[in-house]
Amino acid sequence: MIPREKMIEWSKIVSKYLKECTFKKCIFPNCNVKYSKAHSIQKSKILERIAHNGKVMSYDPRKTYITGDFEEVGINKASTFFGFCNHHDNSLFLEIEDKDYNGTLEQNFLFAYRTCARQYVERKTALKVYKKILREQKDIQMNSLIHEEINLTNYLIDKLSNQLQKFHGELTKRSSNRDYTILFTNMKKLSYISLIAVSSIIDLRFNIKEEKIHSDVTCPKEFTPLFFNVFPQNNSTFLLLSCFSTDLDVFKDLFTYIDSINTNKLETLYSQIILSQCQNLFVSPSRMEASLSKKIVSNLVNNMIYSMISKRSKHLSSTPPINIFQSLKDDS
Ligand SMILES: [Zn+2]
Repeated sequence: MIPREKMIEWSKIVSKYLKECTFKKCIFPNCNVKYSKAHSIQKSKILERIAHNGKVMSYDPRKTYITGDFEEVGINKASTFFGFCNHHDNSLFLEIEDKDYNGTLEQNFLFAYRTCARQYVERKTALKVYKKILREQKDIQMNSLIHEEINLTNYLIDKLSNQLQKFHGELTKRSSNRDYTILFTNMKKLSYISLIAVSSIIDLRFNIKEEKIHSDVTCPKEFTPLFFNVFPQNNSTFLLLSCFSTDLDVFKDLFTYIDSINTNKLETLYSQIILSQCQNLFVSPSRMEASLSKKIVSNLVNNMIYSMISKRSKHLSSTPPINIFQSLKDDS
């Protein structure tokens, strides 16, 4: 466990280098067109639904480590990354940008693809940051830790790159020939609007003997990512958990468990997942003050600072059993 002061010191350096190390390139195969700014969470329908006066609350790598709090961010900037050119950002995601979510295989596929793309770009950026720290901060005592992070990040980039290849294998085909069943999605729907949006990769295992879900990226050899998306639409909140069909064996028990629990348990479980693992997360400023206690916010912020400097996930059991969806319920 890294001491908190070290985490803050490190995240200061990381945020200093973040700007110049940001990965900027269209990741679609054989594309040489200039990158542009892409949203990883849909702006006009999802972010606007959560926003208050055009702002949402999230983690800001330049400020949060000092304030220990969420910061307001305009929805034009929120969740953006530079992993696609204009053409691919516009053409690939039509089915989820222009249409309401209807649970089609293609929509589930695109949600997961965009989550994977953003995470890949983020890890590529992190790798550049770590290498720059190694080059320029010779006095830093954390060199061995940084080497460890570089190894882990290289491993994750490899994994994500393999996953992207599977997505691209279908997306480079003509749309009528694509096989979206290579991805499996467990979709849950809450019958109310919760003012929260998430697009993140998570690591979960279900231990059937202990009846306990755990995450453990410290054993990276076993890391099989799950693509996690949460968003409100019309009068519901959707929770999508996806994996490649070839990985279904790994998650069979987890999905069986998720299908067996009642709504309240489900909401608490997904809240714990969000609190322990998700970084690309946005909540409503209007609900935030009123509903999320200081303790929850500090839990989220700590987790985000932690995940900014280390890809090791925290254990679910280290988060309080709260129901973040009910707390952020839109009762306006
Ligand atoms: Zn492109």
